[in-house]
Amino acid sequence: MVRTIKSLGHYRGWRRILTAGAMSFVATLAAVLIVDLILVPISALSIVLAAAVGGLVGFCWVGTVSAVRTVQAIGALNTRREVALDSMIQGLCVFDSQYRLVVWNEPYRVMYGLDARGLKRGASLRDLLIARQAAGTFAGDVDDYIAALKDKIGYNNTFAVDIELPDGRTIAVIDTPTPDGGWIATHEDITERKRAERELDHTRAFLDTIIENVPSPIMVKGIPDLKYLLVNRAAEDYLGIDRRDVLGKTSARVFNAETAEMIDVADRQLIAAGGSMFRDEHAVVTPGNGLRIVTSARLQVVGTDNKPQYLITVIRDVTERKRHEQRIAHLAHHDQLTELPNRAAFNECIAATVDMANAQGDSFAVLSVDLDRFKAVNDVFGHKVGDALLHEVARRMEAVCQGAFLARIGGDEFSIITSVGPQPSSAEAMAERLSRIFENDIVIDSHSMRMGVTIGVAVFPEDGADASVLVANADAALFRAKSEARGSIRFFDMSMDTQLRERRALQQDLRKAIENNELELHYQPQANIDGTVTGFEALARWHHPRRGLVPPTDFIPLAEESGIIGALGEWVLRTACREAATWPKPLTIAVNLSPVQFQHGDLSTLVHQVLLETGLPPARLELEITEGVLIGDFARAVSILRRLKNLGVRIAMDDFGTGYSSLSYLQAFPFDKIKIDRAFVINLGHSQQSATIIRAVIALSRGLDVPVIAEGVETEEQRRFLAGENCAGYQGYLIGRPKPIADYAETVGRTVIDLASRARIA
Ligand code: C2E
Ligand code: CA
Ligand code: CA
Repeated sequence: MVRTIKSLGHYRGWRRILTAGAMSFVATLAAVLIVDLILVPISALSIVLAAAVGGLVGFCWVGTVSAVRTVQAIGALNTRREVALDSMIQGLCVFDSQYRLVVWNEPYRVMYGLDARGLKRGASLRDLLIARQAAGTFAGDVDDYIAALKDKIGYNNTFAVDIELPDGRTIAVIDTPTPDGGWIATHEDITERKRAERELDHTRAFLDTIIENVPSPIMVKGIPDLKYLLVNRAAEDYLGIDRRDVLGKTSARVFNAETAEMIDVADRQLIAAGGSMFRDEHAVVTPGNGLRIVTSARLQVVGTDNKPQYLITVIRDVTERKRHEQRIAHLAHHDQLTELPNRAAFNECIAATVDMANAQGDSFAVLSVDLDRFKAVNDVFGHKVGDALLHEVARRMEAVCQGAFLARIGGDEFSIITSVGPQPSSAEAMAERLSRIFENDIVIDSHSMRMGVTIGVAVFPEDGADASVLVANADAALFRAKSEARGSIRFFDMSMDTQLRERRALQQDLRKAIENNELELHYQPQANIDGTVTGFEALARWHHPRRGLVPPTDFIPLAEESGIIGALGEWVLRTACREAATWPKPLTIAVNLSPVQFQHGDLSTLVHQVLLETGLPPARLELEITEGVLIGDFARAVSILRRLKNLGVRIAMDDFGTGYSSLSYLQAFPFDKIKIDRAFVINLGHSQQSATIIRAVIALSRGLDVPVIAEGVETEEQRRFLAGENCAGYQGYLIGRPKPIADYAETVGRTVIDLASRARIA
């Protein structure tokens, strides 16, 4: 109503009302003149008065009707405008040039918690701000606020500001100056939007931090231009350049042409096929980090419009692992001192040569070569000279063995496989060339040494139809040569077979060894690197009634060849578990398993039975296997190992580093322990390569999360080196030799009765 009355100020109908008044005046004047002329004479003043009254009546009548209609129309318009204003989402208010409120809407009032009665047209901005202060929706200084606002309105441009209310809401205010010097302000509550934005920022920052710190290189490209959009820290390290040199560029501008082409092809393949793509090991020439061997996983991300938008590449850099593998594989197949192939490589070569000769009906010869007087040189001049001598011998042998396979089998033993030319004549020619390599003395550190070689030869197929017989017969020939004359060459003949017969006899005796109680177990402690004993390894000993103590390195292969290993292994397992079950301390017991035990019988059932029978908790039993177990029927071996592990028993990889391709085996089964072969430990201090291989194995096992223990640790110096390399534990003469368990009574927690003091007490 207030506004309706005010709207009269805008009324535009005055002209019509004046016209109506004038016409009424003229009409009334005319009527009065007619009455004056026709009926009664009227005074002139009366005529004028009557005409004036008539004019006034007309004026009033038309004016009133017109004004009422107009006012009604304006009222209706205003109501509509009010409804429209009040239904806006934003708060709205209009101020005049005097900073007085002209128009406002309900959302504005509600937004600032203002009282409907107190909100008046003409209220000053100051009053309004004070009212807001009282309502708790204005926190600043009123005068400062007004001054700042005046300042901005003076520029005559629309300006926006986000204000924080004391109750935590955020209001976006847009002020638009009006031509009359006032302004229109819209107020929008953007609290929710701000919160969502903050949350998004937070999430983005969180994801950025994660991606930045993921240890795998991650790179993201945009599709379709394939320019890099994101490169994390690991990717910078991998590429060897700063991300600023990558972002916004295509592969072609980051990598060399060949690599860029390869990356591009893979990217395009993925875009064509969609989804994700894995690329197995491949080489990448990085811009600043050289050649890397990597695997990559690519993933295409589709945008909201269902079109491919991003291409994510995650790299796994396996270069170091590959290097370790290659190094270990090389070391595993090569003798560290002379760089010649080692025994493992020789075994592989002879097996392959037998196969080939069988297939082609060829002949070939094996030469077993023994260096004369080497031990004396070693003793007299020391290891350093001994090593240099072996090195020189190897070079001279290589020079005369062109075309043949030369390997260093042991200390001063070498073996040669030669399939060149007719046999036995070409083997004989080679043997003679070999025996002449020492015609010139070897001089090392100004020591002049006269050396010689003794050689035994066996020819395939006459002297042996398979590798092991052939090698054994070449050794038998060497044995005969050494016993006859140093420096001689002997070819195998049947008379040398006696040694083989000896072996067979020993095998017969071994069959009865278990029932005759000739076998015994010795126990060797295993310790943490600080020397705390954690368990024992059981090692078999054979007390032969006539020959005395036969070493396991002799009788275990015999047992394996003849199948006795089944019974022998079972006896060892049962005896060791039964013994360990009686120890007061819950130390572990390690038992060696032969590969042959995996091929025959049901090993996991046997172990299960023995554990039940002896009451030994499975976690205390550790089974040591060599990779020989996994060569051959790999799947069967792994399945047996898994069954054993399911029993709760631990599995250790024994003699690591001496074999073939231990690394793939290590990955194929989750071993609980790796035992570094003692050959590497023995050479510590003499050979830099041994230290390197030990470091490599420890690094590798850390990657696989498997503890390493070193075998054959004899000196404190070796132990200290291993401790420095973070080796978990050790075994060897330093902590204790293999001995009957009675010698370790105290270590296993038994009270040792001091007989002497008992006697004194008695
Ligand atoms: P292995 O399993 O590697 O056993 C460790 C060998 O290294 C043992 O030789 C032990 O006496 C020796 N040794 C331990 N510490 C040192 C040291 O500090 N320096 C030196 N030089 N040698 C050390 P052992 O007892 O002669 O056994 C030789 C191999 O015979 C064993 O090697 C194992 O492969 C096999 N063997 C022994 N007992 C059994 C058994 O019960 N079953 C099976 N299948 N094999 C066995
Ligand atoms: Ca062992
Ligand atoms: Ca071992």
